[in-house]
Amino acid sequence: MKNKSSALLGATLSGVLLLAACGSSDPGSSDAGSGPRVVASFYPFAYVVEQVAGTSVDVENLTTPGTEPHDLELKPRQVADVQDADLVVYETGFQAAVDQAVDQGDLSDDQRLDVADVVTLLQAGEDGAEEEGHDHEGEDHAHEDEEGHDHGGTDPHVWLDPANMARITDAVVERLGDVDPDQADTFEQNGEAFKAELTTLDTSFREGLATCETRDVVTSHAAFGYLAEAYDLVQVPIAGIEPGNEPTAAQLADITRLVREDGITTIFTEELASPAVAETVARETGATTATLSPIEGLTDDTADQTYLTLMQQNLAALQKANRCS
Ligand SMILES: [Zn+2]
Repeated sequence: MKNKSSALLGATLSGVLLLAACGSSDPGSSDAGSGPRVVASFYPFAYVVEQVAGTSVDVENLTTPGTEPHDLELKPRQVADVQDADLVVYETGFQAAVDQAVDQGDLSDDQRLDVADVVTLLQAGEDGAEEEGHDHEGEDHAHEDEEGHDHGGTDPHVWLDPANMARITDAVVERLGDVDPDQADTFEQNGEAFKAELTTLDTSFREGLATCETRDVVTSHAAFGYLAEAYDLVQVPIAGIEPGNEPTAAQLADITRLVREDGITTIFTEELASPAVAETVARETGATTATLSPIEGLTDDTADQTYLTLMQQNLAALQKANRCS
């Protein structure tokens, strides 16, 4: 699979240079500023770094807004940015291309912060979503190497529990302070302020979801295991851990039956994946659809949102769907 990836990189090189020359929205960061250069693998981690670092640190998000991070492919320039960064914040097992760039770059321990080391990973399906159809992974998108998507059975979506975001914040404060000791106090203060906001968020989820008519949450892909675990909900994902997975007919029938039996009135869709299957389930059962954001990245429609505001919207959507009082 290494060969395959290298070939892919080579094949896209010329297109990439062209793109880089045009200068896209945000990642044209490598020539800006003289502070530490931090690379984050996708939006939630970039957001934490920004909260901790303020404007003094140059943060590059490898996952362009509007793209879905699971199947991220890195441009050669991004691989170079990873390997030259003062600090890379990523999560092993989530984005194979990033793991590969880190491994091949021979980064020192000081240069990388693996979020999988600072939070406790749940097994995929630990919250009750045991039937994931992982066997079919990759069959419908033949250009992907399914070996690259080996999660080792763990669920990568740690950021949807605010308590995990606080743990990640602590780790970023510490590591950024090592990179730029002059600003360590500022990072510490910023980190505490952000964690206070996360605590407020956690409290509003805890209180807002305390009493609901149903605790089942039917989602598009299985992104909400940590959120379900934190707030005593039961995630019923239509697809598996990867947004692109198609459910089997049997899985669809199971979900449709559950929706009817449990009086579920809302099927959740998300911004970065197709709503087609969720809409089918909704049509079959007379349920409505609503958006629950896995916050895997911002889009044009959510460009003015943040992790905190999207989580508040998620809470409001859950309260409405599950009829919480
Ligand atoms: Zn996901």
